[in-house]
Amino acid sequence: MRIVVVGGGVIGLLSAVYGVQAGHQVLVVDQAAIPFSGSTSFDRHRVLKALYLDDPVATGAAVRAHHQWLRLQRLLATRIYEPVGALSVLPADELSRAQRMLTDAGSGAHLFGPLSLAATYPQVRFPAGSSAVLEDLAGVLLADRVLTAGADWLRQSPLAELLPYRTVVRVDTEHPAAGPVAVELAGGEVLAADAVLLATGPWSRPLLPADLAAGLVLCRQSMVYCRVPAADAAVWSATPPLSALGMATGGWLVPPIAGTPLKLSAASAGRVVPDVGDTTTPRYWRDHLIEQFTPVVRGLRADWLVDARDAYYLMRRSTGGPLLAVLGERVVSYAACGGFSFKFAPLIARSLVQYLVGAGPPPTGFDPAVAGVVRVPSHRPVM
Ligand SMILES: Cc1cc2nc3c(=O)[nH]c(=O)nc-3n(C[C@H](O)[C@H](O)[C@H](O)COP(=O)(O)OP(=O)(O)OC[C@H]3O[C@@H](n4cnc5c(N)ncnc54)[C@H](O)[C@@H]3O)c2cc1C
Repeated sequence: MRIVVVGGGVIGLLSAVYGVQAGHQVLVVDQAAIPFSGSTSFDRHRVLKALYLDDPVATGAAVRAHHQWLRLQRLLATRIYEPVGALSVLPADELSRAQRMLTDAGSGAHLFGPLSLAATYPQVRFPAGSSAVLEDLAGVLLADRVLTAGADWLRQSPLAELLPYRTVVRVDTEHPAAGPVAVELAGGEVLAADAVLLATGPWSRPLLPADLAAGLVLCRQSMVYCRVPAADAAVWSATPPLSALGMATGGWLVPPIAGTPLKLSAASAGRVVPDVGDTTTPRYWRDHLIEQFTPVVRGLRADWLVDARDAYYLMRRSTGGPLLAVLGERVVSYAACGGFSFKFAPLIARSLVQYLVGAGPPPTGFDPAVAGVVRVPSHRPVM
C-alpha cells in the first residue's frame, strides 16, 4: 500500500517507520522541515513514567511502551532513551498501592519515606513528610534525537520518501471505498494514497470536520532550561525525572542527563490560546517558573537559566485527552495531546498503521494495551 503520513512529529515518523517495516510505501509530508523544531515533539526530552494510580491499563501500556522504546533504539541504532526510572511523590498511604500496580505491570518499584527521600535526593527540597515511589521501567526519551533518528532511518529506506515544506490543505474523505484517497497540497498539487494518517499535532483543527475541531482546545505550555553548577552535575545526572512534586502548581522536573539541561515546568505555566504562535517564552512565564521552583530546587538561581521555550498541544474539551477520529475509509486523524502521547507513540503508531493497512481492528477496538490511552470513540467508526 501507499500510505501518506501528514506530519513529521513523533506520531507521524514512528507510524512511517512501522509502515515501512511492514513492507508498505510511505510518504511523510510536513509543512516545515522534517523534523521541525516548532513541532510539539521537538524538545530535549520527554518523560516516560508508567504509574497511573487510577488506571492499571495505562500503567501496563506504559511498561510495554518502555520495552518498545528499547526495541526502537536498537532499530534506529541511536541512543534515544535513558531508562533512569521515574520518581513520583505520593501520600504515604498510597505507596503500597502504587508498588502493587507497578509490580503487577512488571516493573520494579522502590519506596522512599521522608528520611530516605531527602537523603537520596538532597538537591530537591520535598514538602515536609513527603514519601515517593521510584519505578524502574521508565526514564527520559531524548525527543529531538528520536525525531532525527526516525527521519534519518526513513531517508535510508527505499520504501520511504520525505516531503518537507509542503502543507496539506485538504484530504478527500468521500472517496469510493476501493479508490485512492486524494491529498491536496497548498499550491494545488494532489497526491494519491491508499491510506492517509493525519498526525498534525496542534495544527489539526483545519483538517478536521468543524464539529470535531470545535471540541478541541489549544494550550500553550512554557518550560525553562537550566545549567546546574558543575559541582552538582554528578548528583543531578543520577536523578530520575520527578513528577507530582508536591507543588500546589503541579510542577515537574527533568534531570540534565545525556548532555541535556535541567528542565522545569508546571501546570500553572500552561494556558488556553486561540492559535499556534511562536515558541518564545514571555518573560512573565520564565519568571513564574523560576519563582515556583526556587523553594524546590536547592540553590536554584535566575542565572542558572540557559533557555526557555513554549510548546503547543490540542486536547479534547470533554476528556482532556487526544482525539482519534476515523474520517473516511482508510483516513485517520490522531491529534495528540499534552502529557503522554510521546511515550505511548510506539504503541499508538503501530495500532494506527495496522488499522490503516487492514491488518488490525478499527481504532475503536484498539489493542487493550492502548485502550487506557486512546479511549475516545472514533468519529465515524468503520465497523
Ligand atoms: C510542554 C509539553 C510537555 C510534554 N511532556 C510529555 C512527556 O513528558 N511525555 C509524553 O509522553 N508526552 C509529553 N507531551 C506530549 C507529546 O510531546 C505530544 O503529544 C507529541 O509530541 C505530539 O506529537 P505529534 O506527532 O502528534 O505532533 P507534532 O510533534 O506537533 O507534529 C505535528 C507535525 O505536523 C506538521 N503539520 C501540521 N499541520 C500540517 C499540514 N497541514 N500539512 C503538513 N504538515 C503539517 C507540523 O509541522 C509538525 O511537524 C508533552 C507536550 C508538551 C506540550
